[in-house]
Amino acid sequence: MPTSTVTRTLTGWGRIAPTAAELAEPASDTDAAALLRRPRPAGGAVIPRGLGRGYNNAAQSAGGLVLSTARLNRIISLDATAGVAVCEAGVSLEQLMVAGLPAGWFVPVSPGTRQVTVGGAIAADVHGKNHHVAGSFASHVTSLDLLTPDGELTTVTPDGELFWATAGGMGLTGLIVRATVRLKRVGTSLVRVDTVKTADIDETMAVLATHDEKYGYTVAWSDSLARGGALGRSIVTSGDFAAPSDLPSAARGDPFRFDPRARLGAPPAFPPGLINRYTVRLANEAWYRKAPRLRAGELQTIGQFFHPLDGIRNWNRVYGPGGFRQYQYVLPFGAEPAVRRSFELVSAHPAPSFVTVLKRFGEGDAGLLSFPAPGWTLALDFPARTPGLGPLLDRLDELVVRHGGRVYLAKDSRVPAPVFEEMYPRLPEFRKLRAAIDPSGALGSDLSRRLGLLFIPNGPAVSHPPARPGHQTRSPMESRPAGTSTVRTSSVSSSTPSATATPTSVMLTCGIWVRAAKVAARTTPAAVITPPVTLSPRSVPSRRPSRRDSSRIRADRKML
Ligand SMILES: Cc1cc2nc3c(=O)[nH]c(=O)nc-3n(C[C@H](O)[C@H](O)[C@H](O)COP(=O)(O)OP(=O)(O)OC[C@H]3O[C@@H](n4cnc5c(N)ncnc54)[C@H](O)[C@@H]3O)c2cc1C
Repeated sequence: MPTSTVTRTLTGWGRIAPTAAELAEPASDTDAAALLRRPRPAGGAVIPRGLGRGYNNAAQSAGGLVLSTARLNRIISLDATAGVAVCEAGVSLEQLMVAGLPAGWFVPVSPGTRQVTVGGAIAADVHGKNHHVAGSFASHVTSLDLLTPDGELTTVTPDGELFWATAGGMGLTGLIVRATVRLKRVGTSLVRVDTVKTADIDETMAVLATHDEKYGYTVAWSDSLARGGALGRSIVTSGDFAAPSDLPSAARGDPFRFDPRARLGAPPAFPPGLINRYTVRLANEAWYRKAPRLRAGELQTIGQFFHPLDGIRNWNRVYGPGGFRQYQYVLPFGAEPAVRRSFELVSAHPAPSFVTVLKRFGEGDAGLLSFPAPGWTLALDFPARTPGLGPLLDRLDELVVRHGGRVYLAKDSRVPAPVFEEMYPRLPEFRKLRAAIDPSGALGSDLSRRLGLLFIPNGPAVSHPPARPGHQTRSPMESRPAGTSTVRTSSVSSSTPSATATPTSVMLTCGIWVRAAKVAARTTPAAVITPPVTLSPRSVPSRRPSRRDSSRIRADRKML
């Protein structure tokens, strides 16, 4: 029976720029191939979708067909001796952790949330706190099965061009249906963490550089609003998986204990303006003061160290109905003054970044559109309705381009197409390969249309030209009030009503922080929600998530 479709309005994690499309959840590659081959309405392009944790509209296609991997969620095998998992593309990193940890295997690269699918991790070629030693996700994938736009199934490996167009290719080369991933051997499920509180940006960068030499994982959480002598002050956390001998004797009986449950849920709605300069300043101050100047050897759970935000389900609602934008750049080593300048620009501006993370990347991989490159990467989160956000991000773009850096496709929601072209010199190669495998323009996303990722100058009419600046899809929530001026360079509204700090909003924000801190402080792992998988020395059988797992995964997939 053909897979049914439903019409759904979708957004990314930033909850901006919603668009409606047909949504299908094929349960096999045959079903997915049939959907790809189905006649499409004019202009209705197809795009894959995982767990919707990309911040922007990369997994949306207005008026087209979105292929969700929600039912392609089986771990086909997990070789517990070699640490190799063969899984369907809709398997989440959390599922891989639940299956692999009992035998001492962890995902090779973990982004700041484990609620991403293997397909999404390859398509964005995601990075984690260990990029300086492990590179990004695709470097640990030994092969993948791809349904190309014509519905043909092909196996691609890292020695082929199509592999490196797919890694970081944001779903635009086809639907990844299966992948083989090499896992990382760990001695326990706890991380031995050292913490350093830094006084300013120079010390932050110096500590990050030293820690890259000493630790497998390292990152700085920065105070984006600190200025003057405190500019760029941060809490740097670095660590490695603990050895069994590091554990207190009470924990040694169960060294791979892992509790993936989110302990708190954000309320369904928050008032607009809750995240503003005043509340963020207050929260940053409390958080910075509370941190120790130096702390060594603290044992943290995987959730505390890698995914603190996963402790609160749907935390993205805290930004209110306007949603939020994340901006992440990488600037090459040697451009340290530009990194400092970016902190100055952000701290001098009314736009408050709630979550500000600085780290260093190691070597990049061969992905044509992969983001990581040796240098400094800074991620910033801004409420989308912040007054003046557009001009601030435009200035950051200028700085980034001038110093040979780029922004991250999985997070960008507003960079103008010509600026993006300057940032990604291999875009023409990507476009050429794409045109060869998809001459009829079957695939496409709201993101690809905005940035003209598939556009071939003087090429076939089906290659979408980039949206003109000022004509990008704008969320109804971001509509500009009549009579206000348009920012020419980017699509970000800078004229939305100003956010007002109220004592209530300050208290609510502090409430969220206190709750988050409580989650982070709980060190005793509770029972694992999924029945532990018993791994034979060679492999585990094909496995779908349990019923409890499935309902949690369904809740995670519900975006609107
Ligand atoms: C809290 C949080 C923290 C994050 N931290 C990091 C971080 O530290 N590092 C980092 O790199 N990223 C980070 N991200 C971004 C996230 O890891 C990526 O956007 C990832 O791609 C999301 O995976 P997903 O399964 O949700 O995919 P979606 O968001 O659904 O889709 C993302 C892209 O992948 C494509 N895609 C999805 N599945 C497939 C498939 N089967 N075949 C082909 N294409 C597919 C989609 O078309 C789309 O272009 C973070 C996101 C959040 C919400």
